Amino acid sequence: MAEHLPKPEELAHIDYRPPRKDWRDPRVEFRKGVFCYSAAPKNLEYLGLPNPRKWQPFDKDWKLPPNWKQIILEGMRERLEKYRSFRLFMDICVRCGACADKCHFFVGSGDPKNMPVLRAELIRSVYRRYFTAAGRLFPNLAGARELTEDVLKEWFYYFYQCTECRRCSVFCPYGIDTAEVTMIGRELLTLVGCNINWVLEPVANCYRTGNHLGIQPHGFKDSIEFAVGELAEITGIRVEAPINKKGAEVLVVMPSADYFGTPHYFTLLGYLMVFHEIGLDYTFSAFASEGGNFGLFTSHEMIKRLNAKIYAEAKRLKVKWIIGCECGHMWRVLHQYMDTMNGPADFLEIPISPFTGTRFENARSTKMIHISEFTSDLIHHGKLRLDPSRNDHWTVTYHDSCNISRAMGLFEEPRYILKKVCNNFHEMPENTIREQTFCCGSGSGLGTDENLEMRLRGGFPRANAVKYVRDRFGVNLLACMCAIDKATLPPLLEYWVPGVEVAGVHELVGNALVMRGERERTTDLRGQAFKSEEALAHA
Ligand code: SF4
Ligand code: SF4
Repeated sequence: MAEHLPKPEELAHIDYRPPRKDWRDPRVEFRKGVFCYSAAPKNLEYLGLPNPRKWQPFDKDWKLPPNWKQIILEGMRERLEKYRSFRLFMDICVRCGACADKCHFFVGSGDPKNMPVLRAELIRSVYRRYFTAAGRLFPNLAGARELTEDVLKEWFYYFYQCTECRRCSVFCPYGIDTAEVTMIGRELLTLVGCNINWVLEPVANCYRTGNHLGIQPHGFKDSIEFAVGELAEITGIRVEAPINKKGAEVLVVMPSADYFGTPHYFTLLGYLMVFHEIGLDYTFSAFASEGGNFGLFTSHEMIKRLNAKIYAEAKRLKVKWIIGCECGHMWRVLHQYMDTMNGPADFLEIPISPFTGTRFENARSTKMIHISEFTSDLIHHGKLRLDPSRNDHWTVTYHDSCNISRAMGLFEEPRYILKKVCNNFHEMPENTIREQTFCCGSGSGLGTDENLEMRLRGGFPRANAVKYVRDRFGVNLLACMCAIDKATLPPLLEYWVPGVEVAGVHELVGNALVMRGERERTTDLRGQAFKSEEALAHA
């Protein structure tokens, strides 16, 4: 954890008094710990994005193109015509304030411009000035502002302090989705070369090799083989993990973090165990080696470019349907955009589980199901032998990752699985889970180190709810189904709620799964000893 960070008790002291300066004053201070570094020119060049150059947000001169203002306003006009939702969100906010205290960045920072209503107002005020008669004629009365360099810098500051989590939209009586406003704001900034490296580096890597880290096919193969070897040591069973196998029934796509990071890696072991145990005819692809799509944090065009590989690989490998693994924003893209952007995938079939006969009608258009749908269906039909006592060293709670829960409505399947594979499960308070879940504070490409203070502030409400169940029920494990969460929640909890670890749902499935022919197991997938019968008797 960075040394310059304030202590938790200092950071928890949040000043909610409104600042004295007028909200229309756009000046912001790019202070260490609260902003992200700019994208390296090589990444913009690789992706063919405009205005690659060396600059940083704290520089006075951002080296914008001479006609930057015209580019932004033209970009706005184009998007107002193209996206009905954007125009609607610019027009219909009545400033009722229902969303004001719902954003984790406002709760954790006290900065009013982190209220969703005011975040959107930063761009809405420019919309009024240039695209409405009232704003042109009576700018002060209409709440309109000139587009200046300071306003552009303010956009950059606040649109990279929004994780596009959509919690605010749940509370807006008009359904205004500030995440979509942020997406457009970031897209406009990208038109003049203003993006952050933690987004564009993975995007460039993904465009080159298919995954965020730039791992090439032979590296992908090595990683999977390593996992197979390790699993053989743990269970005594050598599983098959086919890659690029033509004619397999199912293509499995996972976030790359599952094969290069921890605790994600234990989740991968869990998938491999389940697939082996039921005898699924599947394949990974060394090219669709990333489900995650940081295009979501760049532009609609970039979402499409990065997502295209999944259907392309499904076609090349001649599979029938697709399983997607534990990832957050990957699912937002798959669920909400893939079919219309890169489909229709008429060459695929509606997913039917070969083991239970369940036909996943909900995936009729995308032909892709979430692994928690697949596994919960297996458990429901008694296809997996489970020993939940193997997870008795954990007292578990579940974090609804924003995109899986709020964006696609997957609330019950992970809970069903967890209750079957763990004996000790406790929910966090109702207003912090399911559709009201609080973001990890680091989504949408903000999970980097230079903005750690802001991440900890944004993650404060989530951590607070974890603290509640830790103190009340002794929770020591937070389960989740998002690769970003698995990477960013551990430092968040270490700071706010020490003693609580993070795991994927399929790691816990892997612990509990009793495989046919396995050697006697005494440890979980992390190598930690199962709770002994003696310890259980004293519990
Ligand atoms: S809840 Fe909706 S209408 Fe009310 S201020 Fe927020 S965005 Fe505007
Ligand atoms: S989408 Fe999430 S981060 Fe963005 S303004 Fe709404 S609540 Fe805040």
